[in-house]
Amino acid sequence: MKLNIIENESLAEHTTWQIGGPARYFAQVVDTDELIAAVKEAGRLGVPHFVIGNGSNLLVGDKGYQGLVIKLRGSFTGVGIKHNVIMAEAGVKLGTLVTTARKKSLEGIAFAAGIPGTVGGAMVMNAGGHGGTMSDIAETLTILNPQGEVEMLTVADIKLGYRMSNIKEKGIILSATFRLEPGDPAEVTAEIVEALDQKRRTQPIEARTAGSVFKNPQFKHAAQLIEKAGCKGMQVGGAVVSRMHANFILNVGEATARDVLTLIEQVQDRVKEYSHTELEREVELVGEF
Ligand SMILES: Cc1cc2nc3c(=O)[nH]c(=O)nc-3n(C[C@H](O)[C@H](O)[C@H](O)COP(=O)(O)OP(=O)(O)OC[C@H]3O[C@@H](n4cnc5c(N)ncnc54)[C@H](O)[C@@H]3O)c2cc1C
Repeated sequence: MKLNIIENESLAEHTTWQIGGPARYFAQVVDTDELIAAVKEAGRLGVPHFVIGNGSNLLVGDKGYQGLVIKLRGSFTGVGIKHNVIMAEAGVKLGTLVTTARKKSLEGIAFAAGIPGTVGGAMVMNAGGHGGTMSDIAETLTILNPQGEVEMLTVADIKLGYRMSNIKEKGIILSATFRLEPGDPAEVTAEIVEALDQKRRTQPIEARTAGSVFKNPQFKHAAQLIEKAGCKGMQVGGAVVSRMHANFILNVGEATARDVLTLIEQVQDRVKEYSHTELEREVELVGEF
């Protein structure tokens, strides 16, 4: 085992917004032994650690993260399938999971098509849309608990809500299983194509974003509230509220995390003023701003 720790790795390289300062320490781990070694190393260095998937829900501060960032994406990529249960390691991209299901004509996962996260990040966020969420299909999680032991949890052991979970209190996800339903091959493919088409029609999926910035308030759509408050096209530095989908903020140039955060606060203020609704952030802030 050879744990390779890099110093001052730019986290802009590891987030879909392509924004963020350096991680004081950074390690891409390839298996559980390396992950355990990385966590121990953070302890030895006296710094916190943060596990990153595809960085598609993160706003990393311009001053970076004063700890060890551990990346699982690009490793932890095993996928297995038994009957209608898919086992996937934490670094597997949701797109791979969807393709695996489609090839076996399994349905129930079309909602995940086009979400650019990993299994680990998607479980932590309980990612979803299009009438489904990870909690609908997840069955078990294998985690590395804070005591450094590998443990298996069922979904009944964890709390999963709208774009939230308490999984990080339990540990680092190593893998998960998902139970799907046998389906008609043509219908399974059609559902996935439709979900992808809808994303392409309504979201700036080619741009540098982190998806929806805010959660939908109960019975309301954040994007509609933002649009009604006249925020489409609002700009701070290189950060712009998308005209295509008002709940997306684009990095159109050299946006800093400070630009995005300032724009987030401006949108929250305007929406509050216009419709008396507090918008809660869906994207997670990491590190120092
Ligand atoms: C174009 C675009 C479209 C999007 N569309 C959607 C959508 O339709 N629905 C939706 O819900 N989201 C959407 N998102 C947001 C994002 O893709 C999801 O939240 C996704 O699940 C995040 O996964 P990730 O691997 O990128 O996680 P990251 O952003 O890297 O991390 C998210 C959180 O998970 C934690 N984490 C990651 N891996 C692990 C692990 N193995 N163990 C423990 N903790 C871990 C991190 O520490 C962090 O707290 C979109 C984003 C983009 C850019």
